[in-house]
Amino acid sequence: MRVLLAGGAGFLGSHLAEALVANGDKVVIIDNLSSGLLSNLNAIEEKIEFMKGDITKELNVKGSIDLIVNMASRAARKEWETYPVEIALANSVGTDNLARLAISKKARLIYASTSELYANPEVVPTPETYIARLDHISSRAPYDESKKFGETLIKAYEAQYGLRNIIIRLFNAYGPRMRGGDMYGRVIDRFMKQALAEEPLTVYGTGKQTRSFTYVSDTIAGIMLLIKSGKNGEIYNLGSSVETSVIDLAKLVIEATGSKSKIEYGPLPPGDPQRRGADSSKISALGWTPKVPIKQGLRQMLKFYK
Ligand code: UDP
Repeated sequence: MRVLLAGGAGFLGSHLAEALVANGDKVVIIDNLSSGLLSNLNAIEEKIEFMKGDITKELNVKGSIDLIVNMASRAARKEWETYPVEIALANSVGTDNLARLAISKKARLIYASTSELYANPEVVPTPETYIARLDHISSRAPYDESKKFGETLIKAYEAQYGLRNIIIRLFNAYGPRMRGGDMYGRVIDRFMKQALAEEPLTVYGTGKQTRSFTYVSDTIAGIMLLIKSGKNGEIYNLGSSVETSVIDLAKLVIEATGSKSKIEYGPLPPGDPQRRGADSSKISALGWTPKVPIKQGLRQMLKFYK
């Protein structure tokens, strides 16, 4: 296949690009490098085509395309507070442009959506059928509302123009190349760096909030499986069934790194979901099982940092 991968220089995008290349697919990456890094593609730079470009602008992609994967969006809380307009447009206008391109190329479109659509769910583990109430003017809204509208657009293109598509709702993927620190703020990267620097681990709120942390190789295996065997028009959750609380995560990071860091509590960011647990039985029925438990994933992250 010749695959157009939007956001292919990002954390998940670059791992997916490597998997597609290993699978023998031709990969064309479009990325505006707003949060992605060219160095993420070092291992495959000779084997891919790279276009620096913005999916919210006119797209000029030459040649045939069999599959378009849209992973082009900033995805971290601190980013959606700093770049809300870019994020809102990437998932709406950007998805519109890619859907039009998919129709004109007769390609299938795979859309990386998010478990953020479940907000603070009353049903956990949360299945794909769960409908949440989102606050459309909260600071999180530019991300979750635009991801939601991206899904709506894809369904509209499916109904009106027969767009072949799969929507994947991702749950807290983590692994090498994820960006944390102060700008991106993703918890596992922050905790690892804090522990390695023997600084306090900054737990927000009580730390009892949970996430379905999913190691990147499991996430990518799930996406590759859906590319191969997913059913057009379907929505799939993709996340570990194991919920880990933030406080337990902090303890596991301290254990994995052998750090002497203490835990320090800070305010919970507004709208921070209390529970996030994936019901991934739909993709599991296709044969997906996550293989990397959190302890092992943290050890692999440690090797990456070293
Ligand atoms: N979190 C934390 N300390 C940090 C960064 C994040 O306690 O230094 C918490 C955050 O409030 C949330 C969880 O960790 O409850 C996961 O945060 P992340 O931004 O990684 O993912 P998301 O909230 O988007 O699921």
